[in-house]
Amino acid sequence: MLLLGLVAAAPARRPAPPAPQLARIRYWTAPENTRLVLDLTAPLGSPPQFRLADSLTFEIYLPKARKSQVVTTEFVGDSLVADIFPAVSESGCSVRVRLKRPTTPLGFVLPAGDGNPDRIVVDVPAPPNPEADKQLAQKVTELKRSRNLIVAIDAGHGGEDPGAIGYRRLQEADITLAIAKKLKSQLDIMPGVSGFLTRSGDYFVPLRKRIDIARRYQADLFVSIHCNASRDRDATGTEIYFLSLTGATDEAARGLAEKENAADLIGGVSPEAGDDLLSILFDLRQNDTIRRSSDLAESMIDAVGGDSRLSTRGIKQAGFVVLKAPEIPSVLVEAAFITNAREAAILKDVQFQTKFAEMLAQGIDQYRTQHLRATSN
Ligand SMILES: [Zn+2]
Repeated sequence: MLLLGLVAAAPARRPAPPAPQLARIRYWTAPENTRLVLDLTAPLGSPPQFRLADSLTFEIYLPKARKSQVVTTEFVGDSLVADIFPAVSESGCSVRVRLKRPTTPLGFVLPAGDGNPDRIVVDVPAPPNPEADKQLAQKVTELKRSRNLIVAIDAGHGGEDPGAIGYRRLQEADITLAIAKKLKSQLDIMPGVSGFLTRSGDYFVPLRKRIDIARRYQADLFVSIHCNASRDRDATGTEIYFLSLTGATDEAARGLAEKENAADLIGGVSPEAGDDLLSILFDLRQNDTIRRSSDLAESMIDAVGGDSRLSTRGIKQAGFVVLKAPEIPSVLVEAAFITNAREAAILKDVQFQTKFAEMLAQGIDQYRTQHLRATSN
């Protein structure tokens, strides 16, 4: 009775919120890093702690967090990470990562948003490899000598950023990669042209990094492949974009650029990535580059008009981050609407992907011919 009396006298308290739980461990292998993502059910009360146990083991400690029973050891086994062990202690839970090579991982916390939970992202970078860098530089020099047009093909999204989710859960990131690979094959068989991919598998690449990769290959053109999405399930057609520095063609174009630019929020870009937007905006080369981008967009939309299954919605402009290399003519292709049942079906169709890639390659070839004529005059 005494106990009851004590309880009654205590001030009313709200129940404490449930402790955050480590709900899932995900990972992706990219050419230059392995990315680990620890999904949480709620934000951590205090920040996670990163600790190097020895040169090949590091630990991420999540104070006061619990571990879901479904979270178990992950055997990664790529060139950088051996495995990931979750463990619980009285004061919280921890995740121990065994590396295959000594390197310095970089971790950051991302808040929930865009359909993603609160999460901790850890990038395990490949150690510097001067020999590989030298080989790439040599390869690029040779390419430059033998080919007069090098095209960066950029498959939108990837990794934890699936892009738009379309009809019957079709994922934009899968379609963009399939079309990008086919476009590379098409370009590589064209005389004087060579294509390379800014991502070649299912992993996240930040938007600015895509431009960096294009620069590393001394790309002459940059073609980003995406699929459009709309709440209006009847919306259909192909759009090709080039950069606008002064505002989008219309409200829909602005909204689309905002959605595509949000990729970095979904994948998360570490604060060190920096922001060179201002210096890029005032780059004097940009006007000429934008004129060439417009020419490229025109050649490509003409070529795409050759398929009766697609309607073209024309050329538009908006402020896509991925188009902002001041020296590389760049376009962004919204192939078709992944949210429309009929267009989702053709986007998934391998024959259509090949045909679409062929048409894009024709457009690029058309641009090349015009451009060669212009420079030889
Ligand atoms: Zn996209």
